[in-house]
Amino acid sequence: MIDIIQLLPDAIANQIAAGEVVQRPASALKELLENAVDAGATQVQVVVKDAGKQLIQVIDNGKGMSATDARMSFERHATSKIRTSQDLFAIRTFGFRGEALASIAAVAQVELKTRQTDAELGTLIQIEGSDVKRQEPIAAPVGTSVSMKNLFFNVPARRNFLKSNPVEMRHIVEEFQRVALSYPEVAFSLFQQDLEVFSLSSGKLSQRIVGLFGKNYQGQLVPCDEETPHLNVKGYIGKPESAKKTRGEQFFFVNNRFIKSTYLHHAVSSAFDGLIASDQHPFYVLFLDIDPAHIDINVHPTKTEIKFEDERTVYAVIRSAVKQALGAHHVTPSLDFSLDVNFQENWTNNPETKVQVDREYSYKTFNTPEFKQSSVSGWERLFEGNPNPVPSSLPDPDEDQEILTFPSRASADEPRFAIPRQDEESAGTTFQVELSYVVAQMSTGLLIIDQQSSHERILYERYSRQIQSAQGASQQCLFPPTVQLNTGDFALVMDMLPELQSLGFVVEEFGKDTVLIQGVPADVPVKNEKELFEGLIEQFKNFKNQLSLDKRENLARSLSRRSSIKKGQKLNPQEMETLVGQLFACQNPNYSPAGNKTFVKLDLSSIHSFFGK
Ligand code: ADP
Ligand code: MG
Repeated sequence: MIDIIQLLPDAIANQIAAGEVVQRPASALKELLENAVDAGATQVQVVVKDAGKQLIQVIDNGKGMSATDARMSFERHATSKIRTSQDLFAIRTFGFRGEALASIAAVAQVELKTRQTDAELGTLIQIEGSDVKRQEPIAAPVGTSVSMKNLFFNVPARRNFLKSNPVEMRHIVEEFQRVALSYPEVAFSLFQQDLEVFSLSSGKLSQRIVGLFGKNYQGQLVPCDEETPHLNVKGYIGKPESAKKTRGEQFFFVNNRFIKSTYLHHAVSSAFDGLIASDQHPFYVLFLDIDPAHIDINVHPTKTEIKFEDERTVYAVIRSAVKQALGAHHVTPSLDFSLDVNFQENWTNNPETKVQVDREYSYKTFNTPEFKQSSVSGWERLFEGNPNPVPSSLPDPDEDQEILTFPSRASADEPRFAIPRQDEESAGTTFQVELSYVVAQMSTGLLIIDQQSSHERILYERYSRQIQSAQGASQQCLFPPTVQLNTGDFALVMDMLPELQSLGFVVEEFGKDTVLIQGVPADVPVKNEKELFEGLIEQFKNFKNQLSLDKRENLARSLSRRSSIKKGQKLNPQEMETLVGQLFACQNPNYSPAGNKTFVKLDLSSIHSFFGK
């Protein structure tokens, strides 16, 4: 018998390994960029020709390599980054496998030039298909330059499988963006066929985002910052209005390494629930910092997947961090400018604007005691047209459940919010257009409010709270109607009983597939309880088919959709004021639960500009 098993020659082993590491020009770029950053570079330049098929060159000013290391770097499993298996659990560098250069050199023509700071001469190595063609000392700047030419020159099958230049270039830009985002303190540039595509100076993350994605993002970033014993979350999310239909501007980094995770993406997008349409994706760049001992990054050779020891906690922390950022910044355009230090220039120059910004931020003072005292329950006024405050007809809502309206004039001697009602003169300046929009005056211009979307927002937040806290009050039906349902709907209603109850519905089973409506939410104006109930179920089913909402979310949305003021409904001045006041007391006043804008602001400066002033 003869033995037939042999060790593969290095060149072939490398070529096989390269299949995993280098799938396309962009994957080689990623490795080269990461090596540059790992080497402590502060400036990295990338040159690309023919979408990387002809050339990818990465030039850094990092620590460089000695002649021996330069040669070693092309050996498989040769790395300076880990030494023991223990190190595997404390990885803070990008690389650690020691496979990249060996793989790239197996499937391309590579030229390396490198010099260490204190060395007089540098080293040049040329290597093709794992075959060292040349090694000699040369004069070179400090740092390392690696150029990879004619990728897959020796594997024609794979070269033929490369995609068109635009597609390959898109992958290259993607990899470039990821590394550039995770190291805003490093200056990066990217040239394609001698044209500069990006030139990013070293700076803050917010500047880097704007440098990569455009000036449009300047006013659109909301800082996100949450520290917990388990992990920290930092970065930026885009305001809801910057959300896009196409994906591609969502970035998670774990210990500075880009990762993809649909699970964690869901944590962010669910925090945007009710702020953007369901087919839109929010922008985010979030950095998670977590003890390397609690993650395993060794799951996949291209390393964009990651395993967390406790994925659910990570999910919860991210979701709450994003929610908090959205809430804390009210996602209101004029507010963030005063808070986002990176973009203050345009705003702080103008003392007028600054004052207004601060005042607008004091929406929160709605909760001050004297304000509560004087506030009436706007809800009754809004629907019954009852001019007298009747707060006692409602159960005492807890602190943040207070139904907020404008203060009465008596308490308004100190301006508390952006829609001034300081004096009699401004009374009556709120009016309706097309029975659909409410126009309100404020000191810096006009607010135009979509009455239906705004009211849906107000109700949605209220109902969500009621479902959470089970504190919805009931009004008893004088003549409790019965509602006959089909079997499916009956089961649905039975399943929702606790939630319906927490909103204030009192529903009882009443024979086969039939329910008796004893009570409905106290604050819903009802002419016909049966119609309200049937309409709610209909809406619930509708949303259920279109969107994947959880039961409570769906119910809050359905009821707010059903019971909101509609277009075409006439509002009296008090109702309009109440609507405006309640909208701006919302956590997220800018959008309806379905993601439609609730208001636009027409600044005085824009009005002036209409007249060329
Ligand atoms: P890894 O990054 O996983 O260690 P690589 O094959 O990418 O493996 O690189 C092998 C080694 O070559 C690295 O560990 C590092 O010591 C060295 N090296 C690679 N690129 C550079 C560079 N741009 N500057 C300095 N050293 C480098
Ligand atoms: Mg590497």
